[in-house]
Amino acid sequence: MNTILVTGGAGYIGSHACKALKAAGYAPVTYDNLVTGWQDAVKFGPFEHGDLQDRARLDMVFQKHKPIAVMHFAALSLVGESMQDPGLYWRNNVGGSLTLIEAAVAAGCLNFVFSSTCATYGDQDNVVLDENSAQYPINAYGASKRAIEDILRDFEVAHGLHHVIFRYFNVAGADPEGEVGEFHRPETHLVPLMLDALDGKRDALTIFGTDYDTPDGTCIRDYVHVCDLVDAHVLGLHWLRDDKGSRVFNLGTGTGFSVQEVLDQSHSVTNRAVPCTEGPRRPGDCTKLVSGSQRAKDELGWTPNRSTMKQMITDAWRWHQTGHYDR
Ligand code: UDP
Repeated sequence: MNTILVTGGAGYIGSHACKALKAAGYAPVTYDNLVTGWQDAVKFGPFEHGDLQDRARLDMVFQKHKPIAVMHFAALSLVGESMQDPGLYWRNNVGGSLTLIEAAVAAGCLNFVFSSTCATYGDQDNVVLDENSAQYPINAYGASKRAIEDILRDFEVAHGLHHVIFRYFNVAGADPEGEVGEFHRPETHLVPLMLDALDGKRDALTIFGTDYDTPDGTCIRDYVHVCDLVDAHVLGLHWLRDDKGSRVFNLGTGTGFSVQEVLDQSHSVTNRAVPCTEGPRRPGDCTKLVSGSQRAKDELGWTPNRSTMKQMITDAWRWHQTGHYDR
C-alpha cells in the first residue's frame, strides 16, 4: 500500500487528513511531537513520535516507512503568539520545515503537499485574494509560511521536489462521524471558543474589535469545512502522482462571514445565544480575508460541499458535545 508521511497527523487538520487518506486507499503514517497534537487523534495508521527539527529521527522514519509523499501539516499556527514570539515561529516552522524538506529529498521522496495560509497575503482590504495576489504577511505566522513556500520553490529547481501548496482560509467543523475534531490547548479559534461560551465552559466570547471597516465592524473571514479541506489534499496528492507539476491552490469558499455573522449563525443552529463581550483588536488580525477559490475547483475538481456555515457549526457542535480527547 502507498504510504504517506503526515507531519502533524495528531493535530486538528492532520488527523482529518489521515482519515481521508485511509479512506482513499493510502497508508498514513503520523509524525508528530505532540506539543499541540493528541495521541488519541492518531487512529488511522502508525504513529512516529518526533520533532521536525530532529533530522536523524526523520531519516529513520523515511527509511522505515518509505513514503511516496509527504503531507506537511505540523506547525505553530497562532497569529497572536507569533507576534509575541516570532523567533519560535521562524525556528519551528521555517527551521523545522527546512529540515523535513532536506530529509525528504535525501530519501528520494519528491512529492510534497504543504499547508500554507491566507495569512501570507496580509491585509489587502476589499480584495478577493487569488493565488496571484501579492503576499505581504503582517504577522510572523504568515511570514514563516511564506518563507517555506520559497524554500519549496528553490528545492523544486535544485532537486526536483514537486509540491502542491494549499493556502488555507479559516478551517472549521469536524468529522461528521465524530472520530476526530478540533481541540487545542489553549484554544484561540473563534468557533470552538464560541461553543465553549455556549455551554458554559467559559464565561463569554470576546469579540476582538468592533471598529473594523466592515458592515458590522467585525473582521471577515472565509470559513471552509475541515473535511472539504482534507479532500482537497487527497486531490493534490493525485495531482502530483499524475505528474501535473507544482502548483498553488487557495482553499476557501469565496464567501466571507463576519465574526458577528458567525455568532448569529451559531444561535440559529444551537438555539442558544453566545454570551459576548466586546474587546480591542487582536494584534496581527487582518480586516478581511476572502478567497478567490476557483482554481482548486477548476483544476483539482474540488467541490467543498460541506462548507456552509450551518454545516460547519453543526458538525463542530456535535464534536464539542461528545468527542473531546481529554474525556
Ligand atoms: N476572534 C474573536 N474572538 C476570539 C477569537 C477569534 O473575535 O476569541 C476573531 C478573530 O479576530 C478573527 C476571527 O475571529 O477575526 C477568526 O479568528 P481565529 O483565531 O479563529 O482564526 P485566524 O483568522 O486567526 O486564523
